[in-house]
Amino acid sequence: MGDYVNRLMAQLVAKNPGEPEFHQAVQEVAESVELALARNPRYVDAKVFERTIEPERVVMFRVPWVDDRGDVQINRGFRVEMSSAIGPYKGGLRFHPTVYLGLLKFLAFEQVFKNALTTLPMGAGKGGADFDPKGKSEGEVMRFCQSFMTELQRHIGQFTDVPAGDIGVGGREIGYLFGQYKRIRNEFTGVLTGKGLNWGGSLIRPEATGYGAVYFAEEMLKTRDESLEDKTCLVSGAGNVAQYTVEKLLDLGAKPVTLSDSGGFIYDKDGIDREKLAYVMDLKNVRRGRIMEYAEKYPGVDWTAVDPAKHYNPLWAIPADCAFPSATQNEINAEDASNLLAGGVYVVSEGANMPTVPTGIEAFLEARILYGPGKAANAGGVAVSGLEMAQNSARRAWSRGTVDERLHAIMQAIHDTCRSTAEEYGVAGNYMHGANIAGFTKVADAMLDQGVV
Ligand code: NAP
Repeated sequence: MGDYVNRLMAQLVAKNPGEPEFHQAVQEVAESVELALARNPRYVDAKVFERTIEPERVVMFRVPWVDDRGDVQINRGFRVEMSSAIGPYKGGLRFHPTVYLGLLKFLAFEQVFKNALTTLPMGAGKGGADFDPKGKSEGEVMRFCQSFMTELQRHIGQFTDVPAGDIGVGGREIGYLFGQYKRIRNEFTGVLTGKGLNWGGSLIRPEATGYGAVYFAEEMLKTRDESLEDKTCLVSGAGNVAQYTVEKLLDLGAKPVTLSDSGGFIYDKDGIDREKLAYVMDLKNVRRGRIMEYAEKYPGVDWTAVDPAKHYNPLWAIPADCAFPSATQNEINAEDASNLLAGGVYVVSEGANMPTVPTGIEAFLEARILYGPGKAANAGGVAVSGLEMAQNSARRAWSRGTVDERLHAIMQAIHDTCRSTAEEYGVAGNYMHGANIAGFTKVADAMLDQGVV
């Protein structure tokens, strides 16, 4: 670590105590950005990076609602508006009991660079609440979403801040949130993305993050004249990103063999085929069940429950070629990373945000495997959100083929930008530095143009 990063991190930790994920995300980017600062003293003089780590605005609010028993419940809601340098704030909402300010600051910070990489004009934000939709009735989820939006609507708008989904916020929640926004504001605008198809949503938005992570892996493999055909792939998570990662892997002839949720993981040696994927989609999106049920339904499938006494996740010790972490942050620790390498994995494309701890990333980079960091590999979701905004503004709906083609082209462009930027800065093959520097310079140049704001 250079002096600049040391000083910056000491100040950041002192000013933002108790927010380890935010510290981790900033440190990773700062180490890359140091290379860009060395070449452009104007960034240093204008304290561009120091401004980037301070959110433009944070709102935190009470979300009161009444459960099915008639008891009053109180959750905490947030919106972190991180950067509007290149467009309106844009980023998902997460509903999960682990949500707190520091987690959303890390996610909003990552979003700054990710959104810049998409080539679309989107600033960065993230929000959510410490609400757990698991085990709640439809009525409870709806009442919570309505209460959440009753406050959030004051702070967002199609030209100001356009939230989307994330963990715990899928099509159902976006529907309830949109309904309440429309009711209060009396306007039908593209204030949220991930909307239903018959009320302003875009084809391919649900698929976009998973498809994009697979397209990114495909591009990385092309640099070695290889493809995904017949590759054995580990996928974690069983939600939106994981499901569509599996679907695109099947399209491209690969063999996905695992899925997980917070209870544990399934290992299907024969491969998760289309029929089994349809079962998972129904299980998770309609019946809202647990992935363990997959092992009960299909014979010969191994089920491994989470064991809190274990220091590693045995999912990542299964021999394979590629890994698509698609659940949550820090799900691959140093031991998991070395198990992945020992098991033959040489492609990691991160569908989740910051799923690998820094020592794990170091191990991947040292081993010179094809490592695609989340802010590049999972940018497909927000990219198609940007395309949804464009369609809403034009009052038009594009075909599935058109949106998928654009997503594919965007993922190829992101890959090429990361690759060429890494080369330009003398760190060829390092997609992490490439992504961080390319994202940063785009935002930094816009900030220089706009003065000290
Ligand atoms: P989702 O549909 O809610 O699914 C999340 C999955 O991950 C579920 O299977 C969940 O299991 C599991 N999971 C979540 N937190 C966990 C934890 N602490 N421990 C173990 N398992 C956990 O969410 P998603 O949209 O797929 O998001 C997955 C990841 O992709 C997140 O990191 C998100 O930030 C990132 N991402 C999403 C998008 C998008 O467009 N949706 C875009 C970019 C990045 P349980 O059901 O048991 O909790």
